[in-house]
Amino acid sequence: MPTKSKANAPKEFKIPDGLGDLPLPLLIYLPDSKEIHANRAFERLFGPVPPSRFSGRPAIALVHERPVHESVFSLPGRHEGFVVESVEGLKIPVELRISPLNAGGRSASLVLFEDVTAKLELERQLIENHVALTQAFADLKHTQSALTQAAKLASLGELSSGIAHELNQPLQAILGFSQELQQFEPLSPSGKEFLSDIIHASKKMAEIIKSLRSFAREAGDEVVDTSLEHAIREAAKLVNHSLLQRGISLEIRSGSHAPLVSANPIQLEQVFVNLLSNAMDAIEEAHAGKGTITVSISESADGVRVSVADDGCGMSEEVRQRIFDPFFTTKETGKGTGLGLSITHGILEKIGARVEVLSTPGHGTRFELTFRPAGRIKKKGEAA
Ligand code: ADP
Repeated sequence: MPTKSKANAPKEFKIPDGLGDLPLPLLIYLPDSKEIHANRAFERLFGPVPPSRFSGRPAIALVHERPVHESVFSLPGRHEGFVVESVEGLKIPVELRISPLNAGGRSASLVLFEDVTAKLELERQLIENHVALTQAFADLKHTQSALTQAAKLASLGELSSGIAHELNQPLQAILGFSQELQQFEPLSPSGKEFLSDIIHASKKMAEIIKSLRSFAREAGDEVVDTSLEHAIREAAKLVNHSLLQRGISLEIRSGSHAPLVSANPIQLEQVFVNLLSNAMDAIEEAHAGKGTITVSISESADGVRVSVADDGCGMSEEVRQRIFDPFFTTKETGKGTGLGLSITHGILEKIGARVEVLSTPGHGTRFELTFRPAGRIKKKGEAA
């Protein structure tokens, strides 16, 4: 008669032939005796597993890079993230598929080792492709918006060039005849006054046409070494009357050198007139009657930097995104055309200058322009 302990001892287990010959590496784990049995495919790949009772150590030796206890073998389901070392010393990423098994009346776990090298490689490639695709999409969107901007400016340029050309001829005739009429005597005092009004209005129209032509790049693209400080001071002269009228102070800060940049002097002046005019409008909107605009010129590693800062109303992020769009304006009808900054952008782009806009609603705006320096730097006081 068998002793009580022998009767209670678990029956000896032998891996069934069907599983032993299966080409998939697998283990059978018997939790009651902590035995572990490997099939031939497993042993070919990872070496033999000691047939002795399982102490937990073989599993730890087998399964790297993730602390594992043999209790994982009792958890049915899929377990990812294990790396197993093969007999040749190769580290093979595996997924464990564990399912309960009846091993001759004893409960056991069937642990399948699935080599996921190819799957992980595919996943890695997928992630790489996804990153590349996201980057390409962002680049495409950027290019698309640059192209849209260029297309809008090009068609606007053509249109304004055509209109400017058509209007300029009759306007020159009106101006010429009016000036000639002034020589005719006798003219009544009110006749003289009308005539001078006509001449004044015609000259104003000629100015508008000139700026339209400049927008259409008809002003001549001659680029020379130009003093930034000179262009800023000339622009300041043009807006000086408005500054005084609105109680706005303008401070121009420049170092001991006046850096030169390659640009068309008239267009450069136009850039600063546009920026100063917008700064004045923003200040007036925030607190009419007082305010400060600061223009600073400095040299940085990547070129000559000009910052035009105001303490005006600032702008929201949505507005900031659109300010360079032709015809975009937040100003009331009759006050804004929405062309100033798109012209500015076009001029700066042409000479390879960069523009950045930093703005805080309620506090002010800073336009930061970075110009490529011309061949040399002009000393302050040196003739232009
Ligand atoms: P316009 O001045 O005719 O509106 P712009 O192209 O010069 O056209 O400017 C477009 C818009 O950009 C303005 O209507 C305004 O909303 C915004 N903007 C430009 N400069 C500033 C500034 N310094 N502060 C706040 N908003 C500004």
